[in-house]
Amino acid sequence: MARPVKAHKIVPCFFHQDREGTTRCFTCNKSLCSECAKTYDGEVYCSPQCAENAKKFDARAEDLKEMDEVYKRRELVNNFQGLIINVIIFIVICLVAFFLWKSELIFSTAVKTNIVNNMPEWAGFLKDILKP
Ligand SMILES: [Zn+2]
Ligand SMILES: [Zn+2]
Repeated sequence: MARPVKAHKIVPCFFHQDREGTTRCFTCNKSLCSECAKTYDGEVYCSPQCAENAKKFDARAEDLKEMDEVYKRRELVNNFQGLIINVIIFIVICLVAFFLWKSELIFSTAVKTNIVNNMPEWAGFLKDILKP
């Protein structure tokens, strides 16, 4: 037996099953007839509650946007602090390496002289600093 072919589906109003829904609630998506559709602030809702919820949602979205901006700013500050800390660590390592070089703890003067004399031309500025 052939199944009955459905006619073009008309979505009835959520509150009036015998009426055709012409629009939908902006918040809950209920199908609404022209009588049930109420306009608040230029948008269609089924009830004042749905209009209120939409307003609350907007306020929440606005809050989240603000929070997001605060987080981004904080992240920027953290990144900058991280950069500063890395630079300080780098300087400390350079200083420690320099003092170890200047002391006789690792290299003897003869070895240091040999290393400095064999440095490439582009590192000439280092020769003056590292000369034993
Ligand atoms: Zn609604
Ligand atoms: Zn209705």
